[in-house]
Amino acid sequence: MAKNVGRLVFNSFGVNTYILSDNTGKCLIVDPACSGPGEESRLAAYIAGNELTPLGMVNTHFHIDHILGNTFACKSYNLQPLCHAGSKLLWETAESYGLAFGLKIENMITPVDFVEEGDSIPFGNASLQVLYTPGHADGSICLVNHDEKYVISGDVLFRDSIGRTDLPTGNFDVLYESITRKLFTLPDDYTVYPGHGPETTIGYEKRNNPFL
Ligand SMILES: [Zn+2]
Ligand SMILES: [Zn+2]
Repeated sequence: MAKNVGRLVFNSFGVNTYILSDNTGKCLIVDPACSGPGEESRLAAYIAGNELTPLGMVNTHFHIDHILGNTFACKSYNLQPLCHAGSKLLWETAESYGLAFGLKIENMITPVDFVEEGDSIPFGNASLQVLYTPGHADGSICLVNHDEKYVISGDVLFRDSIGRTDLPTGNFDVLYESITRKLFTLPDDYTVYPGHGPETTIGYEKRNNPFL
C-alpha cells in the first residue's frame, strides 16, 4: 500500500474502505462500509491513531455494502456524502434492498453533493480526478490520484476480475467501455485499489484480466 492509502475491510461482503491522506494529515474517507459499533470503532481508531482530519467522504457507488457506514462517518466528522447523481435509483432503493440481504441502514443520509466526469476533489494539498465508469452500477465513479499514481476503482475493476453486471442498472457492454476507454487510458504503473480484494495495477490487468 502507498503510504497515503489506508485500507480497512468491513462487513460480511468484505468491502475495502479507503482512508486517503495528503502529507499534512488531511484525509478523505472512500466507501465507509463499517457495520455496527465494533467496525465503527476500528474506523475511528484508525483516523485518530494516524492523527488524520477527515475533510470529506466519497461513495464510489451506492450498493448497500459500500454505504453501511455513511451515517456514522457523516455524523462523526460532520461530513456529507459525495457521489455521482446517477446513483439516485440506488440510494432510493438502498434501504429496502438492504433488508433483502439482512442489512439494516438507519437514518440514511440522502446525498446532496455531486461530482461528475472530470471533476477534481481536493483535500488538503492533494486531489482526486473523477472518472465516470458505469456498467456495474449507475453512478459508479473511479477516483484517480495522479501525483501518487493510484486509482480507487470501486466495483468496476478488481485483480483478475471485473464488477458483476447482473444487479439492477448493471450492463456488461457499458462496463467494458468504462474499463477499456477510461481506466485503461491510465498509465500501466498506476496502482488500482478495488472495492474488494487486493490491489493490482493497470498494466497487470491489461495483460492478464480474463474478462476483458
Ligand atoms: Zn457494487
Ligand atoms: Zn461491492
